Amino acid sequence: MNERQRRELFERFKARNPRPATELEHSTPFELLVAVILSAQATDKGVNIATRKLFPVAHTPAQILALGCEGLTAYVRTIGLYPAKVKNILATCALLVERHGGEVPPDRDALEKLPGVGRKTANVMLNSAFGEPTMPVDTHIFRVANRLGLAHGTNPRQVEDGLLRAVPPEYLLHAHHWLLLHGRYTCTARKPNCPACPVADLCEYRARNLPAATALPLARKQASAPGRPRARGGR
Ligand code: SF4
Repeated sequence: MNERQRRELFERFKARNPRPATELEHSTPFELLVAVILSAQATDKGVNIATRKLFPVAHTPAQILALGCEGLTAYVRTIGLYPAKVKNILATCALLVERHGGEVPPDRDALEKLPGVGRKTANVMLNSAFGEPTMPVDTHIFRVANRLGLAHGTNPRQVEDGLLRAVPPEYLLHAHHWLLLHGRYTCTARKPNCPACPVADLCEYRARNLPAATALPLARKQASAPGRPRARGGR
């Protein structure tokens, strides 16, 4: 994908959703951190159901520590892997109180020292809570970046570095959410919805998987089809 195509891709995502945001419900960086830790291998919907009950009762590190293991477990036991997540959240709360005055530090090194917080979660926090143009790579973004041909890689760090190079700077702040939502709702793992995809004509995977007779002339055919406007700003 060349630079013009990359700009066109993100211009279309932007036109459809100018201010994308995480679907994890939160009102403070700390609530987002708890929600992100809970969301590993779980759905945002399931996490939101749990945190809608948890956060009105406990929304600071001290309050969650006061709940203790049993008290916190009661709120999150519907979420997969909850025992390890409860342990990590409590240990993270203790560190936030001891070292950071109960606040979430806006700093990668400090974030990655918190139990349950790896590079991806630190990137999510820096992007969604602190407005930094980072690129968390989850399973959706890994798949979408490789399929589109935006950034190829065999591990998340390769794809992260490739995306940081490939995404035009003016789109970098929101690129993570655009790609994630595209992967979650359109370019799904088992059955990508290519016919409804707003960036299909830019996609390497789509081009590779079209029948041979239609693969290469796609853009020309779209441009010349009677009554069909050239794709701009989504379709
Ligand atoms: S054309 Fe298909 S494979 Fe390519 S990004 Fe769109 S949905 Fe995914």
